[in-house]
Amino acid sequence: MTVPTITLNNNVQIPQLGMGVFKMKDHEQFLKAFQWALDIGYRHFDTAAIYGNEKWLGEAIKKSGIDRHELFITSKLWPAEFDDPKQAFENSLKRLGLDYLDLYLIHWPAPGYQQAWQAMEKLYQAKKIRAIGVSNFMIKHLEQLQQVSQVTPAVDQIELHPYLQRPKLLQYLQQHNIAVEAWGPLGQGRNGVFDEPVLQDLAAKYHKSVAQVILRWHLQRQAIIFPKSVHQQRLQQNFDIFDFELSSADMQAIARLDKNQPNGSDPNSDEFLAQTKLRPVIN
Ligand code: NAD
Repeated sequence: MTVPTITLNNNVQIPQLGMGVFKMKDHEQFLKAFQWALDIGYRHFDTAAIYGNEKWLGEAIKKSGIDRHELFITSKLWPAEFDDPKQAFENSLKRLGLDYLDLYLIHWPAPGYQQAWQAMEKLYQAKKIRAIGVSNFMIKHLEQLQQVSQVTPAVDQIELHPYLQRPKLLQYLQQHNIAVEAWGPLGQGRNGVFDEPVLQDLAAKYHKSVAQVILRWHLQRQAIIFPKSVHQQRLQQNFDIFDFELSSADMQAIARLDKNQPNGSDPNSDEFLAQTKLRPVIN
């Protein structure tokens, strides 16, 4: 099974489904989960300097022997390193044991992101990164970025799930040809999303799990997703979402579940700004 791709605004193709590695803190478990994912067919992996596991991802890639060009690897620049994005990028590459990245994102829109973006544009123009983008950017951040940028972000990676659907932001991204990446696509399993009766009924109707129904809903909304799991069966389940299609009435039923309820931090809060000052802990 080959995962469908989405064409980014610079013609780079990104597999619409990948695996996220946030909070994967156990070395052995990481290596095992990566190999299971690869065997299942995953080729797209989403990490970040702040996750502290780039080195393990590099080790897992090397150990697997897979051809680098078969993979799509994303990492992210953390705000504490906005003072020297080039160095931060080189450090990420080194930890990953790679000589280019497929996608590099500004992780959060903390102060200084405009200058950081300009440094990333230089890396992109020097062909060290196939595409550059942003994460957790709201419309106001994208508008501010537009004033100082030459390159339109290829993606905006934002929290999205049935309880947080962000219709206005999605409309803006579509109008500006910026692809949508959904982080926390399963709502991180929080707020009782797996017990939601509407989703449970749909799971029974399509003979799928609630997780598969949610992931399929994202695919049909053209979002790029990389759910996280370290369990072989769940990795397989999250991959088995290409053999059914939700009807438009069922898509509408999920649309009605929106509560505009984030799990993540508000990028304008003091709590968030304090977090962005922490420097990544590198393993
Ligand atoms: P997620 O929505 O993918 O949920 C992960 C949790 O759901 C897992 O811990 C697991 O317990 C559960 N799960 C996974 N598959 C399941 C299944 N089939 N059935 C039942 N439960 C299942 O949340 P996430 O890990 O936060 O998000 C995915 C990825 O997005 C991350 O790994 C990371 O790569 C990225 N991310 C980015 C940001 C950002 O700020 N850019 C923030 C958070 C996450």
